[in-house]
Amino acid sequence: MALLKISEPGASKTVKSRKFAIGIDLGTTNSLVASGYSGEVEVLLDETGSGLMPSVVNYGQGQIPLVGKLAKEIATRDPKNTISSIKRLLGRSKLEGIEADQFQQYQFSSDSKTGLPEIITDAGCKDPIQISSDILTQLASQARQNFDSEIEGVVITVPAYFNDAQRQQTKQAAELANLNVLRLINEPTAAALAYGLDTQEEGKIVVYDLGGGTFDVSILSLRRGVFEVLATGGDTALGGDDIDYAICNWMMEHGLSKQLLESKGYSELVRYANLIKHELSDKDTVDLKFKDWCGTLNREDFKKICEPFIKRTINACRRVLRDSEIAVADVDNVIMVGGSTRSPIIREEVERYFGMPPLTSIDPDLVVAVGAGIQAEVLVGNDTADNFLLLDVNPLSLGIETMGELVEKIIPRNTPIPSAKAQDFTTFKDGQSVMSIHVVQGERELVSDCRSLAKFELKGIPQMVAGAAKVRVTFQIDADGLLSVSAEELSTQQKAEIQVKPSFGLNADVIEDILESSYENAESDMEIRSLKEAQVEAKQLVDSINSALESDRELLGVEQLSVLNSAMKHLSALLYAGTSVEIRSATEELNRLSNEFAAKRMDLHIGKALKGKIIDKMQEG
Ligand code: ADP
Ligand code: MG
Repeated sequence: MALLKISEPGASKTVKSRKFAIGIDLGTTNSLVASGYSGEVEVLLDETGSGLMPSVVNYGQGQIPLVGKLAKEIATRDPKNTISSIKRLLGRSKLEGIEADQFQQYQFSSDSKTGLPEIITDAGCKDPIQISSDILTQLASQARQNFDSEIEGVVITVPAYFNDAQRQQTKQAAELANLNVLRLINEPTAAALAYGLDTQEEGKIVVYDLGGGTFDVSILSLRRGVFEVLATGGDTALGGDDIDYAICNWMMEHGLSKQLLESKGYSELVRYANLIKHELSDKDTVDLKFKDWCGTLNREDFKKICEPFIKRTINACRRVLRDSEIAVADVDNVIMVGGSTRSPIIREEVERYFGMPPLTSIDPDLVVAVGAGIQAEVLVGNDTADNFLLLDVNPLSLGIETMGELVEKIIPRNTPIPSAKAQDFTTFKDGQSVMSIHVVQGERELVSDCRSLAKFELKGIPQMVAGAAKVRVTFQIDADGLLSVSAEELSTQQKAEIQVKPSFGLNADVIEDILESSYENAESDMEIRSLKEAQVEAKQLVDSINSALESDRELLGVEQLSVLNSAMKHLSALLYAGTSVEIRSATEELNRLSNEFAAKRMDLHIGKALKGKIIDKMQEG
């Protein structure tokens, strides 16, 4: 992924030194940090070889909180100071529903001045921003130690359904941790980036994320290099934990004493069931032994245990597909995310529903962090692949198609980005109510010689004569190279808009080819442009005279009419056969010949208008 400062073709590219950037998956249960600093984007491991850091913080009496494994270990001894699942409280002002259940062991401050929920701990009141910030601080310091280097920037993932407040607070947490946030990206988008799906032309991607306590499903649409979340769904109280409890129930149905349910031994049983579940991801049958009870759990029975939960996830998938108006058959990829998708039974059911094997080659626990790490590499400008450009100048001119298949450049090449420019356009025909906006890229004069980036329509332009409507087309490129094009009819403020990534499918070689061909063809292009412009002008004149003749033919004598007609015929014949000089002179001639007709029409219509006014006035009086 190259940060390409576009210089003139042939000039050498500047080699930038590597920058240290990280991607963080800030999870409800576990958080991870990934970096490409070593050359390949990898999740950083702790001393025990694990990439997962529990998202748990302990605020004991000391000044520095304990974060991660250490905090999790003392959770049972110090429950009121040990905070987990804080992600569920980001962006909230009060506790609702299952959150209240999950946070019942904490004491919340009743006079929070910030409006945020604050948990009272031995180290003072802590709000979700502070707590998240402590998790991020820990991850960042782990990363710094790993490479003995300062962090330039960080990409953090958030659930696709996060609202603005939740995103803002995630950002604030990072700022509080002294991290430079390059961008927040959606978790499903990160997963798609990890699998390199962004290099496809377009596609519909389902991201199926089954964790411990939550299920999220998202539908992404990839078009012109931009991911868009079409719909999200899921269940905030459905996950692998439910399967653990169901295994416990199954054991009790098969003779294990139900008394366990009331005793402390139950949490031990749940932990045991969890281990069994993991074993069943690798084996067909597992022998069970808990206290003095023995049994066997095979694939078939395990499948029956899991089925009701899997069904609920599939139903949620069905709903989001319906919400985004996509048929199962239109899905191009399914990505598995979350620890629970390690289970082959779940993979099989997902495969059966979507009719294709889901993508599972990247560890479903790590895939989101890896995607965040890849995005961080791109945004900080490190080279990791040639087919991806991050540009701080606009490398090729961007413009729109105008009449005669000509290109009107709006943002010229080499304009530093971010950048925004607007230009006004008008209608070509009388009463034209739709304007088609075709966004193109390149240096040539004809649309057919440029890259077509996107097309959209502005509808609802009020009926006016040709040339009277004013449509403002605005091009805006943000710092990440994303182009937004909007068209607005100024009298009605009717607006249409599209987004596209102009760097999609470009690399240094392609850009060089495009520039070279524009130099080679500069002269012939100018000729073609001049010809096309002459043609458009001529056609517009012929059209307008024709429509004038339709209504006011009687203003002309027979001879005048025949002179005008033959001049029009002459020009029409030249239109697609003549040179630009011939067309221009015939246009001028026709213009001259039609002047008198135009003047007569003007008189007639002004006269009519005046009469109308006088009548109105009389009626009023
Ligand atoms: P969360 O997103 O909620 O933090 P994770 O994505 O880390 O959760 O997933 C945790 C869940 O994944 C737990 O229910 C755990 O039992 C389950 N899990 C982890 N490894 C396996 C495995 N090998 N087979 C089946 N389930 C697994
Ligand atoms: Mg998760």
